[in-house]
Amino acid sequence: MPIILDGNRVRDQILHNLRPRVAALAASSRPPGLAVVLVGNDPGSQIYVRNKVKACADLGIASESLTPLDSITTEELLALIEDLNQRPDIDGILVQLPLPPQVDSRRVLLAVAPHKDVDGFHPMNVGNLVAGRPGPRPCTPAGIMELLRQYQIGVAGKRAVVVGRSDIVGKPMALLLLHAHATVTICHSRTADLPAVCREGEILVAAMGRPAMLTADYIRPGAVVVDVGMNRISDPIEAARIFRNSAERMATLERRGSLLVGDVDPFAMHEKAAAYTPVPGGVGPLTIAMLMSNTVEAAESAVRRAACPAVGG
Ligand code: NDP
Repeated sequence: MPIILDGNRVRDQILHNLRPRVAALAASSRPPGLAVVLVGNDPGSQIYVRNKVKACADLGIASESLTPLDSITTEELLALIEDLNQRPDIDGILVQLPLPPQVDSRRVLLAVAPHKDVDGFHPMNVGNLVAGRPGPRPCTPAGIMELLRQYQIGVAGKRAVVVGRSDIVGKPMALLLLHAHATVTICHSRTADLPAVCREGEILVAAMGRPAMLTADYIRPGAVVVDVGMNRISDPIEAARIFRNSAERMATLERRGSLLVGDVDPFAMHEKAAAYTPVPGGVGPLTIAMLMSNTVEAAESAVRRAACPAVGG
């Protein structure tokens, strides 16, 4: 039987380890502070932001949601970010993506002070990641590394294959695996003979946003499979095919109107992998936990900078 890599358990452990650090900060100066900027009223983004705010409250992090109107201009949003950059009670700034089309997202992300960039998306922090220097790491890939660590899955010397090359998941994932001494291949929509390349992976990370695309043919027997995909499907025929007519899943679809599906065929994973992350309950819970971790790190760095202004970080 494969090991099911339980993201909820790893999340709980990450949060458990953060609690004394938050308490120490609160006792010595003030609790860490996170500002979440949500432009407009996209229902999906609102749920994400609500979950982030709730995670902060549970942990004792002070959070503040800023919800400017959908019609905000780039200049107005830049002014708002600059205000947050200046505030000493805010350690982390998170700009929920996507931003409305009239806003220049790149300028906005560039405006976040690198030491408050808890998403790890600022080009300076991307550079730190590439160079293996300290700095906040993008939350989803960082959470996956923590999951592999907690399950004592060795990475050094392994063949790792990452499918997807986005700036927020695929590329940073590949770099973190590389820094952990895996031999890494990055795949994308133009990779030739994707199944054969994926089958080389002793560690296979799927981050394409394509429901159940990686079937048994893509999985090396005994591989560790990490499924980052979070796809909502509502078509009963597609659901019946992916979940092989599972009465339980079909009932959930009927009740909720949609089902969450990863990028890997769940049955193939179960049949061929030595260990895998389920969807839901695998990678999903890790992302917010690592956001909390990056916020605590940012607050600790702020305390160090205040104590010794000449020293960075
Ligand atoms: P993007 O759409 O930004 O990137 C998708 C990547 O997958 C691209 O590099 C694309 O290649 C590649 N790709 C798409 N189709 C194929 C294909 N048929 N064969 C090979 N490669 C393909 O997605 P994200 O990285 O933002 O997200 C990926 C998935 O992870 C989504 O399902 C998303 O919902 C989920 N996600 C989950 C999170 C979590 O907390 N669990 C957090 C973030 C994302 P190309 O570059 O050539 O176009």
